[in-house]
Amino acid sequence: MNILELFKRKPITQFPPADSYFDLFDRFGNPFVDSDFERRYIVSSSHQIADGRWIEIKHHKFITGEIHDVFVDMNDGGLIPILNEYDGAYVVRSIRGSSYPSLHSWGLAIDFDASKYELGSTARLPHQLVECWRKNGFFYGGDFRHRKDPMHFEYSTGAI
Ligand SMILES: [Zn+2]
Repeated sequence: MNILELFKRKPITQFPPADSYFDLFDRFGNPFVDSDFERRYIVSSSHQIADGRWIEIKHHKFITGEIHDVFVDMNDGGLIPILNEYDGAYVVRSIRGSSYPSLHSWGLAIDFDASKYELGSTARLPHQLVECWRKNGFFYGGDFRHRKDPMHFEYSTGAI
């Protein structure tokens, strides 16, 4: 392989989808107490949603490539017009109604169309759109075993 081919390669997935809290605490520390977490790991990237609107997503720097690929796949599938609103990614907080940390705390979760796909509801984002996320390592909150969170995608195996 010559050097030019190297530049054309996809960004390397820098870590596999999270499988446990231990995994996250070991790798990245505790965003609730570590005042340096955001500076070390959080970046933002710009993406287009419905009506050509641009959004700025704050997320973990190690999933920059994955998020980029999801948006490319959604665009290729003509699915961008479905994405009406962006409702946040990185925010240090517990899972609503629980004391467990949300994956949003590590910048590994993203919410869309919260007003239409409410927590605990039976609404689901279109299958084709969910597939774009799954293909790139994200677990859909609509598939959570217990309380469904159909606005939510997270870079995990779903085991957390
Ligand atoms: Zn969420």
